[in-house]
Amino acid sequence: MNASASGLRFFNTFTRRKESFAPLEPGKVRLYTCGPTVYDYAHIGNFRAFLFEDLLKRWLEYRGFKVTHVMNLTDVDDKTIKGSQKQQIPLVQYTEHYTNAFFEDIKALNVKPADYYPKATEHIPEMTALVKKLITNGYAYKSEDNSIYYSIAKFKNYGKLSHIKVAELKTGARVKTDEYTKEEAQDFALWKAWTPEDGDVFWETELGKGRPGWHIECSAMSMKYLGETFDIHCGGIDNMFPHHENEIAQSEAATGKKFVNYWLHNEHLLVEGRKMAKKFGNFYTLRDLLGKGYDPIAIRFLLLSTHYRAQFNFTFEGLEAAAGAVERLRNFVRRLQDADGAGSGGRVAALTREVQAGFGEAMDDDLNVSAALAALFDFVREVNALLDAGVVSRGEADEVGVVMRGFDGVLGVVGEVEAERLPPEAEKLIARREEARKVGDWAEADALRVRLLELGVVVEDTPHGVRWRLEKKS
Ligand code: AMP
Ligand code: ZN
Repeated sequence: MNASASGLRFFNTFTRRKESFAPLEPGKVRLYTCGPTVYDYAHIGNFRAFLFEDLLKRWLEYRGFKVTHVMNLTDVDDKTIKGSQKQQIPLVQYTEHYTNAFFEDIKALNVKPADYYPKATEHIPEMTALVKKLITNGYAYKSEDNSIYYSIAKFKNYGKLSHIKVAELKTGARVKTDEYTKEEAQDFALWKAWTPEDGDVFWETELGKGRPGWHIECSAMSMKYLGETFDIHCGGIDNMFPHHENEIAQSEAATGKKFVNYWLHNEHLLVEGRKMAKKFGNFYTLRDLLGKGYDPIAIRFLLLSTHYRAQFNFTFEGLEAAAGAVERLRNFVRRLQDADGAGSGGRVAALTREVQAGFGEAMDDDLNVSAALAALFDFVREVNALLDAGVVSRGEADEVGVVMRGFDGVLGVVGEVEAERLPPEAEKLIARREEARKVGDWAEADALRVRLLELGVVVEDTPHGVRWRLEKKS
């Protein structure tokens, strides 16, 4: 496959341009996405990142690629150590709880599982080997406290991803914490020598007694599962510096090869204009929202439906609107099951071709999901009108069903929709109401409508007869 053949275009943060996507191996994509730090329940800002990555993966699969997806689990760092000490339980026990919670959450959000979920604590030998290589190649050195640092001055193009200039840096200025800003760009820790604050969290390795810095895990584990050069690396925009910049420096200095071909970063989910983050206290976990009675699939839809490179504000009105949109899609698929008209004279087939082209072109263009959804909802509206007119044949409805299943393989919000069945008592009431309407007994018809509503059945009188639906219980 050559660059133009895939038809897909992605905005590559590395070049700051939209580029045609050409994988290393035709038909196959090797994808690495930075996973959660399992020190607490993930918030929905984190899930915005994981859902964007899910959408990307599902779209690649829709276009026929076989995707190998790796997501790491950061289960040793300052935050996990602190958390386990506070609860006075072993680190593994502490992180296991939040790892399981993470898997439950992504299942509720209908995120397709990755092929590998490597844990940092289970890859100490791989990280040790990588750091040794960096020492041998002259990019890493031991400091007075026995920690090992990466010398950013040695890596010719340090800053090439995040576009920072480090020329004026004093060689040897160091930062030991894992997270820091561009202004603080300094030599960073690959291996942290043990200190009493680490308690019983340490490994005895050739690098000494200690634990890995954060950045080295993603270099070691991505290359182990995907090879020294792979296709796509994703993460939230906050990970571009220092995390991804450091991954490039570590990996390329060790192998002498290009690390990643396409870097894709999602923008932040905001609350009242500010990034949703634990440290600002302005966050909702998935559990918070489920506890308020929201459908996880509505949350999925909300987080997916804005283009991944645009910031957007989380609001409860937005969430209600997302729930409504999901319901519209589900109702549409449900209605298709009852279609039995004479045929639309080719209208349904034309609309189907149009939506496939519109949805596909939009998604191929750097996952322009808002344009794709606009095409989809236009289609739903137009086919609904044909269903109202009673002209959609069984065969046409089945074809629309197939197309909708294809789109839902990407969006993951409709699932298997059961045909709704009326409770037998409601059937009788609807028949009685019809009789009442025929003889003009509007008071009786209205009273029966209220009784039906009590049974959860909404009846609507349309120019094409009476329609009913079951009211959603939530
Ligand atoms: P962490 O668990 O902090 O390592 O974050 C996991 C992922 O969530 C990373 O890709 C982050 O960049 C991303 N992330 C964190 N906060 C937000 C936010 N408010 N909006 C979107 N993505 C975020
Ligand atoms: Zn990472």
